[in-house]
Amino acid sequence: MKTYPIAKPWITDAEIKRVEAVLRSGHLSLGPVATEFEKTFASYVGTKYAAAVSSGTAGLHLCIRLQNLQEGDEVITSPYSFVASANSILYERAIPKFVDIDPRTLNLDVRQIEKAITPRTKGILPVHIFGYPAEMDAIRVIADKHGLFIVEDACESLGATYKGKKLGALGYPAVFAFYANKQMTTAEGGIVTTDDESVYKKIKSFSNQGRGDGDLWLKHEVLGYNYRLSDVHSAIGLGQLERMDEALAKRDAIAQTYHRLLADVQELELLDASLPEKRSWFIYPAWTRKPLQRDALMQALNSLGVASRPYLPSIHLQPFYRQRFGYQEGAFPVSEDRSDRGLAFPFYIGLQEEDLKIISDRIKEAIAKLLKGGKIYA
Ligand SMILES: *Cc1c(COP(=O)(O)O)cnc(C)c1O
Repeated sequence: MKTYPIAKPWITDAEIKRVEAVLRSGHLSLGPVATEFEKTFASYVGTKYAAAVSSGTAGLHLCIRLQNLQEGDEVITSPYSFVASANSILYERAIPKFVDIDPRTLNLDVRQIEKAITPRTKGILPVHIFGYPAEMDAIRVIADKHGLFIVEDACESLGATYKGKKLGALGYPAVFAFYANKQMTTAEGGIVTTDDESVYKKIKSFSNQGRGDGDLWLKHEVLGYNYRLSDVHSAIGLGQLERMDEALAKRDAIAQTYHRLLADVQELELLDASLPEKRSWFIYPAWTRKPLQRDALMQALNSLGVASRPYLPSIHLQPFYRQRFGYQEGAFPVSEDRSDRGLAFPFYIGLQEEDLKIISDRIKEAIAKLLKGGKIYA
């Protein structure tokens, strides 16, 4: 039986040759390849600058670090995200103030943001979840009205556009991530895009132990970190960027095929294909409808050789958030409902039409078995 993992990076000889060249050069970090990667990435997204860092989480942390928050300040963000977006606020001793999500876009529900603003609110950290842009025009209006900063978590959305503009180039610092399951990878890595030279320079300094621009090697101006992206990792990124549009088109085609093959499965809710903005496909998620239960489906798929993952747990119900803030079920019902029902299917470049047919057939087979066995009834 052919088995299908959840994700796989798309690595070719282009990356291998570039990595080999860096290794042979002896210049493994703080070298010319890291700088070339930053310039190439900035021009791909359409910004003046891009500051490479060691992970998306590091990029988010530094963007929040630049806001000079005081302990107890609040930053509005989404509970339906990977935990790092909210954690980056906590690293600076500020408080993530969650606002529930819009059931169609799964991004911050902009109608609920203003209700969450208090005198301690300093910023908004929208997450473009599953590669779909948050409603940035509405968020911009609210931020301007209340004097709030915006930092975008674009870690799942390289290549998506908002009103015709690529995410990352909307005028706010935006963070992308390059873990192996993202639209592009550097194994581990991240980058912050900006048009503001001073933001770029600060991110570079904070990520490099607080060294000043062109300063002596052992002169440290601020309390910095080692959040550098090495030239070895950057070389992988350069190889990936060469095929970026091709990669995005392939991912889009796989998602469209899934959509077609699963359209008639009543027990699964798929992402809304009629939304106006251009999604960049990060994963292929679906949500079980009653009486089908997500965990039962995952188990049944596993025994049929199809990997799946629950996507996404709500951040406020993670053990550490419950303990620290006392959150309980019911706090953000739309997010929690999606967390209870959501799962992701195998999604990576290399899946052919026939593979997608096999996977979809197994999904249907698993559902049929569960319905017949009566196991899924709560
Ligand atoms: C992947 C991801 C991150 C973090 O990126 P890392 O590179 O793994 O640190 C942050 N936010 C979201 C929404 C992500 O999907």
